[in-house]
Amino acid sequence: MSTLLLKNATLLITMDEKRRRIEQGGLLVRDNFIEMVGPSRELPQEADRVIDASGMVVLPGLVNTHHHLYQTLTRALPAVQDVELFDWLVTLYPIWAELTAEAIYVSAQIGLAELMLSGCTTANDHLYIYPNDVTLDAEIRAAQELGIRFHPCRGSMSLGKSKGGLPPDRVVQTEEEIMADCQRVVDTYHDPSPYSMCRIVIAPCSPFSVTEELMRQSAVWARQQGLTLHTHVAETLDEEEFCLRKVGLRPVEYMQELGWVGEDVWYAHAIYLNEEEIDLLAETGTGVAHCPASNMRLGSGIAPIREMLDRDVKVGLAVDGSASNDSSHMLAEARMAMLLQRVQKGAGALSAQEALEMATLGGAAVLGRDDIGSLSPGKAADFIAVNLDRLEYAGAGHDPLGALLFCRPVNVDLSVINGRVVVEKGHIAGLDLERAIARQNEISQEMLKRAAST
Ligand code: ZN
Repeated sequence: MSTLLLKNATLLITMDEKRRRIEQGGLLVRDNFIEMVGPSRELPQEADRVIDASGMVVLPGLVNTHHHLYQTLTRALPAVQDVELFDWLVTLYPIWAELTAEAIYVSAQIGLAELMLSGCTTANDHLYIYPNDVTLDAEIRAAQELGIRFHPCRGSMSLGKSKGGLPPDRVVQTEEEIMADCQRVVDTYHDPSPYSMCRIVIAPCSPFSVTEELMRQSAVWARQQGLTLHTHVAETLDEEEFCLRKVGLRPVEYMQELGWVGEDVWYAHAIYLNEEEIDLLAETGTGVAHCPASNMRLGSGIAPIREMLDRDVKVGLAVDGSASNDSSHMLAEARMAMLLQRVQKGAGALSAQEALEMATLGGAAVLGRDDIGSLSPGKAADFIAVNLDRLEYAGAGHDPLGALLFCRPVNVDLSVINGRVVVEKGHIAGLDLERAIARQNEISQEMLKRAAST
């Protein structure tokens, strides 16, 4: 048993049921969970390790609900800087066909490091392309080494071009291969217990890259195993047209028809929803991963987040893959979410508090977790701290929470995940970042060269 005491935080934002904000706040951690939260003077004064958070704002670790970490290898690619989703995908598939297990491992180190430094303590990743020797294992290894809580998706594509899908045939797999590998990774890695550091998600990619049969089969099987389900839905009008043409249904109707609604399901994007569809998500407890930067970058549209929140739809925040963002900065994304709703609906559309709730409590709910997302006794010891005494916040001392969202997004100074200090003084413990960056750049160039020569 070990204890960790954090004390004297200028402001501790709990996100607990009363949304308490505690001045001179602190918390006591036992092993991997929070035992006490309150004003520092009311907490024990000693522990195995004591962190003085004077001058800092402390908040629950942020939760990222959708990503494609491998896409950090294809950031800012000139050929797809100015095109929409379908053209973007068709150009990128042949490059991603050059992925290897090493590429998955290194790109996961890069993307997860970026997430952690920006305050993320629980990350989802959606890996849906498995060429060459690629397996989900490589990114799970990177997450384990970095110490981040991880919900990797065993994604999939089974509908190649010859069957009317969007991806080339050589990057899709058969239903048998996919289901067998889902079973393998669940048997090897899935941990359903409280404070779990790894839960596998089953995630066929999208209506235009997966067969109807795989969608149905995945949902039935995942529910038998007690797993959550994730996919892309209603991201673009092209997708809506594809679904109407192929099955005569709108994307959300199609999902409902396939058994893809419920407490155990969440969609990435959910931009093109009508009133009835928003009600359906609320009634069924189906969640949404909101990806504002990616939606702007690809010109996809503005998700009706205000309407969803007003009807109690579960909404989490997500940076999305790095070929459409192209950064994995959670605080920057929360800021984007706050600003983007305002573009359409005015300055009162989404507050800083609401954007931060989406990035914490909302994400926890979407991932199906009641043990993360707030700082209260019994929750996992996942929290972050940002030094307020810095250029970006000079003149914003009256509202540390507001400063986090309204001022330029910064990296965190401290991050604790599962009771372990993983970021200290702005650096990730035990990661040779320089080496990872150098290798990432080499792999990225090699992939582009190989793709150009095939
Ligand atoms: Zn995505």
